[in-house]
Amino acid sequence: MTTLDDLPIREDLRGRTPYGAPQLDVPVRLNTNENSYPVPEPVVEAIGKALAAELRDLNRYPDRDAVALRADLAAYLGHGLTADHVWAANGSNEIQQQLLQAFGGPGRTALGFTPAYSMHPLLALGTGTRWVPARRGADFGLTADEAVAQVREHRPDVVFLCSPNNPTGTALDPAVVAAVLDEAPGMVVVDEAYAEFARPGTVSALAVLPGHPRLVVTRTMSKAFGFAGGRLGYLAADPAVVDAVQLVRLPYHLSALTQAAARAALAHRDALLGTVAAIMEQRDRIVAELRARGHRVADSDANFVLFAVDGDQAVAWRTLLDAGVLVRDVGLPGWLRVTAGTPTETDAFLTAMENVS
Ligand code: PMP
Repeated sequence: MTTLDDLPIREDLRGRTPYGAPQLDVPVRLNTNENSYPVPEPVVEAIGKALAAELRDLNRYPDRDAVALRADLAAYLGHGLTADHVWAANGSNEIQQQLLQAFGGPGRTALGFTPAYSMHPLLALGTGTRWVPARRGADFGLTADEAVAQVREHRPDVVFLCSPNNPTGTALDPAVVAAVLDEAPGMVVVDEAYAEFARPGTVSALAVLPGHPRLVVTRTMSKAFGFAGGRLGYLAADPAVVDAVQLVRLPYHLSALTQAAARAALAHRDALLGTVAAIMEQRDRIVAELRARGHRVADSDANFVLFAVDGDQAVAWRTLLDAGVLVRDVGLPGWLRVTAGTPTETDAFLTAMENVS
């Protein structure tokens, strides 16, 4: 049997494993920060109609520039943004890959503050960009001084900031974004996949886009919108950044069906985003309850919570799985991450946690 090692694969990919959160069929799946609420019936109908209207024209390529969808996304973001400032792709993963294709690549460097979203280094690997794992401070925090010192040392072509950060959940102080923007010689990408769940008082980097052409904010419909299966991520930046990613995007990368479904979902955003407050309530409940039981818990502005357990987190992960609750072992010794979903899912998780200290 032929194995991967027998193939003339790139040397830097040899021995690597693909990104893969387990997709296990268990009753309570709280491991990939999806929105637990199904798409509401009126939105299902609207998306169905929008898709049906496209079907006869599937002999034609879709709008390569997805202009109508980008205008809808810009209107959703506000901040005076227009279609020219927005670019869309199949998930924010693809957006970030396109950014690295345009601004990273062989001979170039990308830097992120670990632990952060595990796809950032994998996207760097895939695009031949050298990855620098910069460090976070005490309790996974990141101050402007800590961030600036490491950016100054490595002078990366691309800096990834993640706010709210995955897997810790905490949003960045806007002073960190401002300081990194001042210091970084290249692009600064702020991954705001979970922005809609942030606690009051947090500030999106969208507010500082004017006058900062090297700043890119990435967002997704996978989380707050409950549209993970639809695969729609996007960025907001100076229009010149949109010109840059168009140099590397595949032609017709967003299918007519994706564009139509995403536009229908955006038209019903009040119904879809109606779950956000309920999810935040469960998130805050998990934080409070675990703290009351003596666990260390990171502050969360996202739809998930990072919490500490005694001893080996892999053992605790297995205990929870045996109780039918799948959470995420992100490889941080002594820590696990759980998605905030429905009240029933929180009940099941907290009950299962009675056997974990
Ligand atoms: N950024 C962060 C921080 C994430 O956690 C995720 C999803 N896990 C993504 C980006 C990618 O999401 P998508 O490709 O579905 O937009």
